[in-house]
Amino acid sequence: MQIVPPSVERLIEELGKLPGVGPRTAERLAFHILKNDPNRASALGAAVEGLHAGVRSCRICHNFAESVECAVCTSPNRQRSVIAIVEEPFDVVAIEKTGLYQGLYHVLGGVISPIDGVGPRQLEIESLLERISDGGVDEVILATNPSLEGESTAMYIRGQLEPTGVTVTRLARGLPVGGDLEYADQITLGRALQGRQAF
Ligand SMILES: [Zn+2]
Repeated sequence: MQIVPPSVERLIEELGKLPGVGPRTAERLAFHILKNDPNRASALGAAVEGLHAGVRSCRICHNFAESVECAVCTSPNRQRSVIAIVEEPFDVVAIEKTGLYQGLYHVLGGVISPIDGVGPRQLEIESLLERISDGGVDEVILATNPSLEGESTAMYIRGQLEPTGVTVTRLARGLPVGGDLEYADQITLGRALQGRQAF
């Protein structure tokens, strides 16, 4: 006997694949959606459906963008001589939330990780070097996560930047080692940003 209708089962299964959502939470969410106004369920479905069509990668910094270039790159209020290098677009969100950063970004799309088959060529490092060689950049802040991979990626990029003569800094210690920028609280991340040191 099937207690849960297959369509609900399917939703529970999909929700359960989301990070941080266990089977119990997936069940609760599914029943919540079922119990509520069908229009709200449709709105949720439409938002998920249209997600990939509406989001692309900024052609300059590879941050999330709604058009060819992202909101940061097109803003007239940003300091264009400083670029923060981050792993993922979520890290841009985390740094923006501190309200302490006025420069631009460059999103690598991950970290160097030989175990996962990710080398420098799989990341947006070449495009970073092109941006630097275009001129106008005085400082590059290596804002990769304080993990083993984040650290070795930062060191690799520092090596690549050496011939350019640009100042290279790294977020100050104080971020929990092995932690993610994405989960650091705003004050900790803000301090790490302001206390950045030559690297
Ligand atoms: Zn951009």
